[in-house]
Amino acid sequence: MDTVLSCIQPTGYMHLGNYFGAVQNWVRLQEQYRCFFGVVDYHAMTMPYDVQKLRNNTWELIINLLASGVRKENLFVQSMVPEHAELAWILNCYASYGQLGRMTQFKDKSTNRDNSNDDFISVGLFTYPVLQAADILVYRAKYVPIGKDQEQHLELVRDIALRFNNLVGKEYFHLPEALYTETPKIRSTADPARKMSKSAGEKHYIDLFADESTLRRQIKSAVTDTGEKNDGAMSEGVENLFLLIKASGNNVGYDELMKEYIAGQLKYSDLKQITADSLWNIMLPLKDKKAELNADKKTIKDEIKHSSAEIRKTAHETLREVKDLVGLLNAR
Ligand code: AMP
Repeated sequence: MDTVLSCIQPTGYMHLGNYFGAVQNWVRLQEQYRCFFGVVDYHAMTMPYDVQKLRNNTWELIINLLASGVRKENLFVQSMVPEHAELAWILNCYASYGQLGRMTQFKDKSTNRDNSNDDFISVGLFTYPVLQAADILVYRAKYVPIGKDQEQHLELVRDIALRFNNLVGKEYFHLPEALYTETPKIRSTADPARKMSKSAGEKHYIDLFADESTLRRQIKSAVTDTGEKNDGAMSEGVENLFLLIKASGNNVGYDELMKEYIAGQLKYSDLKQITADSLWNIMLPLKDKKAELNADKKTIKDEIKHSSAEIRKTAHETLREVKDLVGLLNAR
């Protein structure tokens, strides 16, 4: 089975955009690939952060992922596999300073900070793409599911792997390839011009584990027409509701409403009703699963420590070989 590596930063919530845009894809990939899914807490340290929140968010995200259908044996916590950081150090010495300085995300994050009076920029923010390279290469992953915005980072990973291979005179690392899977981009229901995201504020995201009344209220108040004249094309708000129905797997509802739309007979109240029903159909079982997992957190924590330790064996093997190849000594 080909291997896939994908990582997610530990923010403690999951909204419908995260679920339909990323996590649902993970759940599907598990059927086809040997998957390594990392909750990357080391990456959450590059910008100022709250220590207790990091810890809580890591466990909260793990519960959310498991409730969403990610299998525990595929899931690990990055800092429980110290080989990530160890390989990152080695790869730091095979990465080009100039190339890292040209990473657009570094340029964006180091210039667009909330508190512009604070001119502290961590070295971690500069070098985290090398840690990403280590995340992938430590499992010798073949595929990485990415979006267009991550292409530059994957290119860097390939450059580092190639440089490493050239210097050790052996094709040790497989050059990881992008796995482009179609995932929907979910918009904010309150402002369909922007994507659904938590950072934009409370009304701009719908919590995957929201209760039914909150979900229905948010969908009921979804913006459908923005008022400006358009050329008869579907408005972004309406398109977004259709997208949510489709992403929820309600193809019959989607087709019927689309027929009505094309005939010019669609009532937005019906569209909203079906959107909320379709979403709730998906959300209720996940919510029940989450409650079940939360009832026995201790077991979940033990299981994730165990799966991280199991996954670590693969990472450890790579590290042993890499150390040999670059002239470092192995203890055993
Ligand atoms: P973030 O926490 O924003 O880094 O997002 C985690 C994952 O969810 C990434 O793979 C994003 O591409 C995906 N994601 C976030 N927001 C959306 C959205 N509104 N629509 C689709 N995917 C999203």
